[in-house]
Amino acid sequence: MRLAAPNRAATRRQTSLRFAYLGSGSKGNAALVEAGATCVMVDCGFSVAETERRLARLQRTPADLAAILVTHEHGDHISGVARFARRHGISVWMTPGTHAGAPDRDLPDLELFSCHECFSLGDLGVRPMPVPDDAREPCQFVFEDGRHRLGILTDTGHITPHIVDSMAECDALVVECNHDTQMLQIGPYPATIKRRVGGRLGHLNNGQAASLVTDLDTSRLQHLVAVHISAVNNTMDLACQALACAVGGRPDDVETVCQKGGIGWRELR
Ligand SMILES: [Zn+2]
Repeated sequence: MRLAAPNRAATRRQTSLRFAYLGSGSKGNAALVEAGATCVMVDCGFSVAETERRLARLQRTPADLAAILVTHEHGDHISGVARFARRHGISVWMTPGTHAGAPDRDLPDLELFSCHECFSLGDLGVRPMPVPDDAREPCQFVFEDGRHRLGILTDTGHITPHIVDSMAECDALVVECNHDTQMLQIGPYPATIKRRVGGRLGHLNNGQAASLVTDLDTSRLQHLVAVHISAVNNTMDLACQALACAVGGRPDDVETVCQKGGIGWRELR
């Protein structure tokens, strides 16, 4: 397969689907997805100031955000959501279960959605999908603009047939490569945490992520990105190698998102 070279210049408002990451990992996650004039943030696991700083790095301000979509109530995804939404008057979209489990439910504008129903936010089509994770009602998303599809999958303990169906024929895939099973096994985590992380309601390991990508039709794929990579139980190289194998490409074809730096705008053409 041939992957497009990263389009680091894609920072202007254009009509195509594009995405960027403020950062990803166990200390905080947030992504931006944009179509036409609509920009949404997926999760916000950073402080208000840190989120503002990282948005500016991506040439965006809080006023640019049409909504914050929340995948689930774990702190690395939700800790910054309510404060950021209150500070900037942004509507927050989540499932009823995620809202029930949220640590701070004082939101300026709450929109509840079913993770079995598609909806639109301005120019952006949103297809939520339920995922197996140890949260109340966790979901992940496929985004569409009518021409392209972007699938984002993190915080999933195992791959379900519904996930494979939902992520079909994407032009960009962002997939969790949380841990290498061997590194997790011999690593420093207590046994209970190791069981949770590696369990069926935990996180995807490199092999599971690669197996998912292998099962998908990747003939349209332009971007393949590994996220939520553990700093303790994985390496960027291992994650890249696993996903590259899955698409018959080189590790250079796969991008990784780190905790600190995120990645700049990637555009689907
Ligand atoms: Zn997480």
